[in-house]
Amino acid sequence: MVTVKDVLINVRVRLSSKREVLIRSACDFAEKAHQGQKRKSGEDYIQHPLHTAINLAKIGMGSKTIAAGVLHDVPEDTEVTLKELEKKFGPEITQLVDGVTKLGKIKLRGTKEEIYLENLRKMFLAMAADIRVVLIKLADRLNNMETLASLPPDKQERIARETLEIYAPIANRLGIGDIKARLEDLAFKHLDPKNYADIVKMSSTEKIQRKKYIQKTVETLKKQLAKEKIKVLAIYGRNKHPYSLFQKLQRHDMDINKIYDLAGIRIIVPEVVNCYETLGIVHKEYRPLIGRIKDYISLPKPNGYQSIHTTIFGPEGKFLEIQIRTEKMNNEAEFGIAAHWIYSEKKRGLKNFLFPEKSKVPAKEIAWIKQLREWQNDLGKDDKEFMESLKIDFFKNHIFAFTPLGDIIDLPEESTPIDFAYKVHSEIGSRTSGAKINGRIVPLDYKIKNGDVVKIITSKENKNPSRDWLRFVKTSSAKSHIRKFMKKEGMI
Ligand code: MN
Repeated sequence: MVTVKDVLINVRVRLSSKREVLIRSACDFAEKAHQGQKRKSGEDYIQHPLHTAINLAKIGMGSKTIAAGVLHDVPEDTEVTLKELEKKFGPEITQLVDGVTKLGKIKLRGTKEEIYLENLRKMFLAMAADIRVVLIKLADRLNNMETLASLPPDKQERIARETLEIYAPIANRLGIGDIKARLEDLAFKHLDPKNYADIVKMSSTEKIQRKKYIQKTVETLKKQLAKEKIKVLAIYGRNKHPYSLFQKLQRHDMDINKIYDLAGIRIIVPEVVNCYETLGIVHKEYRPLIGRIKDYISLPKPNGYQSIHTTIFGPEGKFLEIQIRTEKMNNEAEFGIAAHWIYSEKKRGLKNFLFPEKSKVPAKEIAWIKQLREWQNDLGKDDKEFMESLKIDFFKNHIFAFTPLGDIIDLPEESTPIDFAYKVHSEIGSRTSGAKINGRIVPLDYKIKNGDVVKIITSKENKNPSRDWLRFVKTSSAKSHIRKFMKKEGMI
C-alpha cells in the first residue's frame, strides 16, 4: 500500500512548499473522489493513481504533471466534473487530465489493424499537443501492466500486445529507457510466459557465474582510474533486461554465448572529456574487441542516447561490455525527455514547458515534436497511408547520413536521396535532379546506408518534384511535400 508520502519521497525536482501542497491536495482530492471504489485486484482504487504519480515522480516530472497523474481517472470514473477540477486546480492541470481521459477512449470497432492505427494516431496527436499527457499515459499503463494479472485473460492479452506495439516504442522514442524496459518485460511475461521463464532462468544461471569476474573487473578498473586521478561518480555491474535479451537471442540462434553485452559494467564520470580518458584506461587494461567500440557521444542515437560502449576481453577471456557516460547522459538515458525537467525545474517553474522562451531542452531534441505539430492537420484526417508512413518514420530503425559539410541527417532505414533532400530543406527536395553518394552518382531511388555522405545536385530551372518519386520515398515529410505539390497542380 502506498500513500502520498511515497509520492513525495520519489520526487526528483526541488519542491517548493507551494508545490508540495499542490501534490498533497491533489492526492487528497483523488482519494475522496475515488472513496469506496475498488480495483479488480480488490485494492482501494486510489492505489492506482498514486502508483501512476510515483512513476511520474521517479522519471523526474514536476508537481503539475504529478498532480495531473494522481487525478487522471477522476473525471472518467467519479462524479467529479472537469469544471470542478478546473475550479480547484486551474486550467493547465485540468487540460492534462482531460488529455489523458481522451487518450483512453479507444475505438473498439474495426479490425485489429484499424484499432491499432487509431490508437497510434491518438498518441501522436496527444504528443503534438502536450507531451506530458503521453508521459502520464505511460505511467498509468505501467501500473496497469503491473496489476494485469487480475483482469480476464482476453483483456490481458489485448493490453499486453498494445503495450508492446505502441507504448514501449513510444517510451523508447522519448528516450525513457527505464519505463520502456519495464513495459517490455511485463508484456513479454504475459504474452510469452514460457520463453520469459526460460530467459529469466538462463540469465540468472549466467549471472551467478558472471558476478565474480564483474566484481573483479570493477575492482581493477577502480584502482586504475584512481591511479590516473579520474573522478568516478559511480561504477557498477549491470544486466540486460529479459525482453531485450530475448530479442537479441532470436537474432543469434538462441545461443547465449554469442551475446556480448549480456552483462556489463557502467562507469559514470563528471565530464565528457573524462569519458574518453576512461575509455583509454579501460583499453590499456583490457583488450577491446574489434568493431565493438561505439561512440554515441559524438554520434548520438536518434532518440538522443549518448554513451561510449566498448566490449573487452575480461578476466578468464570472458566478454564484458563497458559503458562510459556522464551523469547527465545517464539521467537522460533512463528518463529521456523527462530528464530535462530535472534540470529546468530546479531553477524555476516552466510556463510553456515545450517551447519555453529560454528552453533548456535543446532544439534538436524537440525537433520531431515540432514536426508532429506541423503534421497535426494531416493527422486529424483519417489518412491511412499517411499514418503508415508516420509509423515508419517514428519506429523504424534509423540511419545516419552526412551532408558534404559533415552535418548529420537522421533518416529511417531504406530512405532515398529524395528523403535526404527534403529533410535538409523542402526547397532542396523539390529541386533535386541527381545525387552523389560518397562521390559517385547514384539513381534517385538508391537506398542510403549508414554513414553515407550524400550530395544532392539541384536544378536551377526545375523547381518541381516528380510524381514518380512517390513510388520510392520513405519519409512522411517527403511524401507530404510531393503530394501537396500534386494537389496544387491538380494532378491528384
Ligand atoms: Mn488509469
